[in-house]
Amino acid sequence: MSVNAFITETELEGTDEGPLSGRTVAVKDNISTAGVRTTCGSKMLAEYVPPYDATVVERLKAAGATIVGKTNMDEFGMGTTTETSHFGSTDNPAAPGHVPGGSSGGSAAAVAAGEADLALGSDTGGSIRCPAAFCGVVGIKPTYGLVSRYGLVAYGNSLEQIGPFAQTVEDAAALLDVIAGPDERDATTREAPDGEGTYADAADGDVDGLSVGIPTELLEGADQGVIDAFEETVETLESAGATTREVCLPSVGHAVSAYYVIAMSEASSNLARFDGVRYGHSSDAGGNWNDAFGRTRAEGFGDEVKRRILLGTYALSAGYHDKYYKKAQDARAWVTRDFDEAFDEVDVLASPTMPVPPFELGESLDDPLQLYLADANTVPVNLANLPAISVPAGETNGLPVGVQFIGPAFGERRIVRTASAL
Ligand code: GLN
Repeated sequence: MSVNAFITETELEGTDEGPLSGRTVAVKDNISTAGVRTTCGSKMLAEYVPPYDATVVERLKAAGATIVGKTNMDEFGMGTTTETSHFGSTDNPAAPGHVPGGSSGGSAAAVAAGEADLALGSDTGGSIRCPAAFCGVVGIKPTYGLVSRYGLVAYGNSLEQIGPFAQTVEDAAALLDVIAGPDERDATTREAPDGEGTYADAADGDVDGLSVGIPTELLEGADQGVIDAFEETVETLESAGATTREVCLPSVGHAVSAYYVIAMSEASSNLARFDGVRYGHSSDAGGNWNDAFGRTRAEGFGDEVKRRILLGTYALSAGYHDKYYKKAQDARAWVTRDFDEAFDEVDVLASPTMPVPPFELGESLDDPLQLYLADANTVPVNLANLPAISVPAGETNGLPVGVQFIGPAFGERRIVRTASAL
């Protein structure tokens, strides 16, 4: 039975020859595909057909990939379970009856179910790593600026990157090789400093002499089964020649609060363009501009998106800006500094990707704050613009557990190498 991984199925053939020829790729539905509707999981864009390809889609086609569909997601990327989608929830192929994680749940589920060899997602605060962990596949959130965001529908644009999913570390790294690199249409992209070989070449499993830091703060409050699986992973790395030590990231206790203030503020601005005139759903009744704008957005957006637009608008409003938005930016700078200091001491950092195993479908819907806290280990990485990979690390009570490795900026080879040792 289908797990509802796709919002739209397609068969877009790439060029005959290329590193991805013969491979099928699923693409998250917030990444523009010319001539194929791109809904962002929202009623607002249910009929929207972009006139152009995102840069990453152009690169997939040029590499010979076949794009098999556009995947289900939390509406505009806002969620951790894929249940805020206008198109219904997605089941978890690795743990039926449970959520696939989110917001890129459809992409992870497509790979886990074998409905695509590879997939692209986007990660604003964990949306690649969480579903990778929950579905038992590999996901990479690249350094901010490594992969073009041209054609990605913005949610929190200072935080997010497009990145790969695959069954293996090497395949995920090979997909990163295809999509990475500067793009003149995204001025935040940069040339990564030279490294040896491709990202896929780095998947050689050699961790002899590698120093791994374990931030104690990222184990606090985690489920015991998740901690057990994580500790086994650490032992595997040690037996392969890595050394491990505890490190401190005192600021990460503020990361979830800072992340949600910044992400919601950016979202309130980015989603202002959905006014029923330029894109998407339009309420057809007459009235003046304000009425029509209000009605269009009341009908087109779901509850979670509305909640975030309201909170983001509040956080940015005159009189509150310094109290919330500016404070959040200060916390962001502090998180970045803590990571910098940690990377003076160790090569990579390791933590459970998610502090909990996948929720049952429907279980977490009524408590948004509880759900936001589940992002505790993923959002610090976005605040600091760093790369991170989630790899499968066994199970607890039959539910998949993922481990996350974080690297310094443009340290993708290092985290790929570490993950490949597992
Ligand atoms: N769960 C986080 C949020 O809802 C992350 C989402 C994402 O990375 N797009 O904002």
